[in-house]
Amino acid sequence: MKLVFELSKQGRASALLPECDVPEALPDAAFRRAEAPALPEVAEVDLDRHYNGLADEAFGVCNGFYPLGSCTMKYNPRINEEVSALPGFSDIHPLQPEGTVQGALEAMATACDLLAEITGMDAVTLQPAAGAQGEFTGLLLIRAYHKAAGDDARTKIIVPDSAHGTNPATASMAGFDTVNVPSNESGGVDLEALRAAVGPDTAGLMLTNPNTLGLFDPNIIEICSIVHEAGGLCYYDGANLNPIMGIARPGDMGFDCVHLNLHKTFSTPHGGGGPGSGPVGCKAHLKDFLPAPIVEKRDGAYALVNPERSIGRMKSFYGNFGVAIRALAYILALGKDGIPEAARTAVLNANYLMSKLEDRYAIPFAGPCMHEFVMDIGPLKEETGASALDVAKRFLDFGMHPPTMYFPLIVHEALMVEPTETESRETLDAAAEAFLAIWDEAHDNAEALHNAPLTTRIGRPDEVRAARNPVVRWMPDARDFGGSDGAKR
Ligand SMILES: *Cc1c(COP(=O)(O)O)cnc(C)c1O
Repeated sequence: MKLVFELSKQGRASALLPECDVPEALPDAAFRRAEAPALPEVAEVDLDRHYNGLADEAFGVCNGFYPLGSCTMKYNPRINEEVSALPGFSDIHPLQPEGTVQGALEAMATACDLLAEITGMDAVTLQPAAGAQGEFTGLLLIRAYHKAAGDDARTKIIVPDSAHGTNPATASMAGFDTVNVPSNESGGVDLEALRAAVGPDTAGLMLTNPNTLGLFDPNIIEICSIVHEAGGLCYYDGANLNPIMGIARPGDMGFDCVHLNLHKTFSTPHGGGGPGSGPVGCKAHLKDFLPAPIVEKRDGAYALVNPERSIGRMKSFYGNFGVAIRALAYILALGKDGIPEAARTAVLNANYLMSKLEDRYAIPFAGPCMHEFVMDIGPLKEETGASALDVAKRFLDFGMHPPTMYFPLIVHEALMVEPTETESRETLDAAAEAFLAIWDEAHDNAEALHNAPLTTRIGRPDEVRAARNPVVRWMPDARDFGGSDGAKR
């Protein structure tokens, strides 16, 4: 497929702008370009075909089943797009006087209240732009809390080995040392190891729950109290809230703060790189440290206020506002009954699919699972030579997106499957049949699987070269995409 720059023909622009009806105000010459930028000039019909062609090259939730574990690629109702695009939300400016955007501020405050209720927290910030930034915000709150108490000795964050990879990365970024705690034989946190790890240097614990094995830790309350008794705080990675929303609340389990991924659980499509939103909820004792500003109602009107001992700003303005509006629309549409029903269906769908596969594929930790489950392709590989990569690639030939591969790291040949609540029984049955057919193929002719996918436009790209030498920007003379020259530019 040609790039839009290659379709360009001088003078063939498709924008018809009206005459300028205000006085022109140009920036100083020092800030102006010497020449016009080399933008593509393409007729409207060709532009339309170009973008449709690009869409055809991609695989999204609207193309088929997308069980990418840990990512919650569920169907997001279109109506929520329309709600967030209403002119009252999309045509306002973030620097407008507060008195002129009371409705938008009320929507933010309502979204915060509902997310606080869902998580069992006392206050919420909508500022973080993604889950990882939410984690970072949460750890800065924990750091500020200990600092305010004059306790400088708490330099360590405990991270179980079944945590999401962002957790230890966040702990380092926030200036803490990470202490790893192993899992026990049923996939939960090893309580003895946790007891041995906590002490006067413990700033806190970061727990992903359900963890990356798709399991809810049954010792969650005890885990929290072990950390609290040692003087640490507890951070809940709630990126995967999908199976517990409306049913169990991190606040009730004893956690001090939590982040959510609105772009996973609460109706913002993702996978293309944003925008996302990772709101952070916290208990009252952390509220004064929240990023500035937060929305509060004062004297009958909504206002943007700076918490007393704020850790500062995490993102320009107020976070990705449109994502928060989609979440609000989603929560209000589902309501108190719909939210837990969605969660239960997510769990049911995962267990249904797992039960159809567990006779053939190895399930390393016994279920029932939550919203996702992990298959270990290790035994199949030993028997036939077909790897997790082969199974995943072959799945594409059935018109479905592969599951997450080689994650979590504690299972070497892992495939992590998350069907989500928005899929029908027929779709789950089709996915099970595909996995079982691939299992048979592995036994009949594993060689053929090494070349899968066979029916997609692109077969097996050179993944090492793509990762080491990414060419993500077009340059007029960099036609050789693999070339190191093109890559550098
Ligand atoms: C997706 C995910 C994250 C990271 O969220 P981003 O929005 O990609 O930064 C963190 N933790 C868990 C458990 C996740 O599934």
